[in-house]
Amino acid sequence: MLNKDSAYVRSVRGQVSTEDLGFTHCHEHIWIEKGRSFEINSVLCIDSMKCSEAELSGFKKVGGGTIVDAQPVGCGRNAVKLKELSERSGVNIIASTGFHKLIYYPRSHWIYEMSQSELTDLFANELVKGMHLLSDIELSYGHCDATAGIIKTAFDDKFDSEYYKKLFGAAVNAAKECKAPVMVHIDNGTDPLKLARWFETEGMELTKLIFCHMDRAVPDLNVHEVIARCGIFLEYDTVARYKYHDDGHEVKLIMEMIERGFADNILMGLDTTRLRLSAYGGAPGLTFLKQNFVPYLTGQGASESDIDKIFFQNPKRALKEN
Ligand SMILES: [Zn+2]
Repeated sequence: MLNKDSAYVRSVRGQVSTEDLGFTHCHEHIWIEKGRSFEINSVLCIDSMKCSEAELSGFKKVGGGTIVDAQPVGCGRNAVKLKELSERSGVNIIASTGFHKLIYYPRSHWIYEMSQSELTDLFANELVKGMHLLSDIELSYGHCDATAGIIKTAFDDKFDSEYYKKLFGAAVNAAKECKAPVMVHIDNGTDPLKLARWFETEGMELTKLIFCHMDRAVPDLNVHEVIARCGIFLEYDTVARYKYHDDGHEVKLIMEMIERGFADNILMGLDTTRLRLSAYGGAPGLTFLKQNFVPYLTGQGASESDIDKIFFQNPKRALKEN
């Protein structure tokens, strides 16, 4: 039940009290239409209702409560499907407005042409009124009643280009207007400290920021520490992703951050692709964190309170809209 004093998130099925989020994955992909992303990498297509529903139902069955879907507007997202998947499975889905890395858009895409204020309005409308329906090459101004709940952004080595400056500016403006959280894809080898400073200069509330993929993008934990000290959330998702590192390394990294006193800043997800969803024949599947990784982490010294923070308490603070 929503209480006017309680914090809430904007899910695809409307406002949800943060008390009802449950076990939360803060960065996933459960639906991606075939498009530019698929042309770049064929695992970036997740488009079977039957399989995506089965994956979410499996997550629900093991006690999963909420996922953040990190596919933004105009980049293969389908708001109607996300809402249907949430209704059918009972899993809360927090969808993304915002933008991805520019390589995921053809040069003719509207994202290049829109002004910063038009983009601000687009992002804000998606958070407050509802998400656009068919939203890739041609931006439809019709929208459905499912709202986005987070602004996705992407930081890579082209950050200084006019397009990224415009897009990040729009994301900050919409975040301030709607009190919405902002998640940032951090690319390997980039400097997230530079980005944190930029956000600070722009007057963005740093506790409303989530820096994603920090575990695979930034090897130096001193950098994680500086980011966390600013109040920014660190999202880790390089579990069962052996081209980067094994799970032993992941556990060590998390334990080190906990020991340094930053259990309150850690969020987790699996950053799923088609290849990582078991209903599509992939592995490890959405149940892996809860069923396999959490016991492993506990066995290596994480306390019950640490687990509660990472999967229950921190997501409430990171994802709330007010
Ligand atoms: Zn992702």
